[in-house]
Amino acid sequence: MKTHQGSCHCGACRFEVDLDLDHVRSCNCSIGRRRAALIHRVPKEALRMLTPLENLSVYEWHTKTARDYFCPSCGILPFRIPSQPTADEIRAGKLPFEGWAINVLCLANVDLAGIPVVRINGADLR
Ligand SMILES: [Zn+2]
Repeated sequence: MKTHQGSCHCGACRFEVDLDLDHVRSCNCSIGRRRAALIHRVPKEALRMLTPLENLSVYEWHTKTARDYFCPSCGILPFRIPSQPTADEIRAGKLPFEGWAINVLCLANVDLAGIPVVRINGADLR
């Protein structure tokens, strides 16, 4: 486990996050393929804001349970809260994810060479 410093491009959002970068997630859903973020999920308490969360804008779409935080000045998305399972998914045993999805491309001094990319087929979801 390592503490990483992260920010948007302009610095209006700065944060630190504890994570073990053993993989990243790349999603082909309608927003993921446009954004090309590489995501690593962490528990809620692993993310510590160094600037107010209110510096960011929130984009909600589809089921409106995900919260995509992005910087209104530079447009970068440093992290998001993933969508919650649908009623059908909960009945099928899927547990809600309580935490943050960090865009690891916003972390300083991270070398992504050799880190496995897990392809998420979100296009089937939306
Ligand atoms: Zn910014």
